[in-house]
Amino acid sequence: MITTKAANQHKKPAPAPESVYIHIPFCTHKCAFCDFAAFAGLSHMEDEYTEVLGSELQSRLSLAKRPRLKTVFFGGGTPGLMSTKNLGRIMETLRSLTDFAPDVEISLETTPHAITAEKAKFWLEAGLNRLSIGIESLLDEELTAIGRDHSVAEALAGIEIAVASGMGDISLDFMYGLPTQNLASFAATLDRAIELSRRWPAINHFSAYCLELSPNSALKSRFPDGDAAYPQDDEQVAMYHQLVDKLAAAGFEQYEVSNFARPGHQSRHNMTYWLNLPYYAFGVGAHRYVDGVRSSNTRSFMKYLRDPLQDDQMEIIDAEMQTKEALMLGLRMLKGVDLAAFAADYGVDLLTLRSKEIAMMEAEGLIELSDGKLGLTQKGVPISNSIIATLI
Ligand code: SF4
Repeated sequence: MITTKAANQHKKPAPAPESVYIHIPFCTHKCAFCDFAAFAGLSHMEDEYTEVLGSELQSRLSLAKRPRLKTVFFGGGTPGLMSTKNLGRIMETLRSLTDFAPDVEISLETTPHAITAEKAKFWLEAGLNRLSIGIESLLDEELTAIGRDHSVAEALAGIEIAVASGMGDISLDFMYGLPTQNLASFAATLDRAIELSRRWPAINHFSAYCLELSPNSALKSRFPDGDAAYPQDDEQVAMYHQLVDKLAAAGFEQYEVSNFARPGHQSRHNMTYWLNLPYYAFGVGAHRYVDGVRSSNTRSFMKYLRDPLQDDQMEIIDAEMQTKEALMLGLRMLKGVDLAAFAADYGVDLLTLRSKEIAMMEAEGLIELSDGKLGLTQKGVPISNSIIATLI
């Protein structure tokens, strides 16, 4: 473990946050695999939630010196379900308390069937410029298997409305390792998604995460651990390699393990997380990183309404933890960790401290050291956790 004197004494000073995450927890239906603070059947409380969220924004942001924001991200839940009235109120409150950089990126997550022409028009008028659409799969049987409440036809209709609205940046978000999915069916989804991106250049970003279920996930009651419906580990690895190869061939750069973009269209908000930079966060269950402290709001909807300022968890990130996090997050970025900058920022010279481990993993083709940058190879990505554990 990195427990050097240098790491303990060398805490990188925290810059002012330039990013805001806002959690909108409403969903039409709770998907069987979902472990987010997301609730179905509470949309009648949207006005009240907006009111409380507004008060949280006021209280927390008025303590900061009018932050200048480079990114805003509405995540959920399904922010796309929120009424234009309430989304407009949140944007107004945010604008009254912060300044937006001229090229601010403002993203909104949505399910495809929540997109309407009226809403998409409003989103653009309100200043939103990026949509992240949860498609998950382009095969109906896989959507049914994971308990998703949209069909492929609805996904295609939602994408078409988003494109027709003139939204400049659209990400389609997928999952793999799903029950009933196999290498060929994942290829079919990817081929169809790539075809959509060729037809509509606004689709300039994809993300694809391997399914990971929490111990009590509802999906396990339908497909318990070890069920033959889940692809085996080696098939999941093959799916990952297929994903990388197909998207590379279609002109999408893999800039993070699970994220792919046409040049210049990376998600700047998500880069904030991967570069270990600070960010504000608001709403039920939201996690923030401000002034070297990670803290989170309660995941209970009713508790949040009663007291949105009571932190549920709080952790002071000391120099050692900051160093580990920077390494873990940095290695997920495919351009790798600049070891000289890392040593200057965190006081840890990995080339000296871990020379043997680096040489060994390089010889095994798991990592690559080039121009002073240490990165995972494609062979190393599926076992990134053990590589990171070896380095820290
Ligand atoms: S739509 Fe998204 S946030 Fe809502 S329950 Fe499904 S996976 Fe969770």
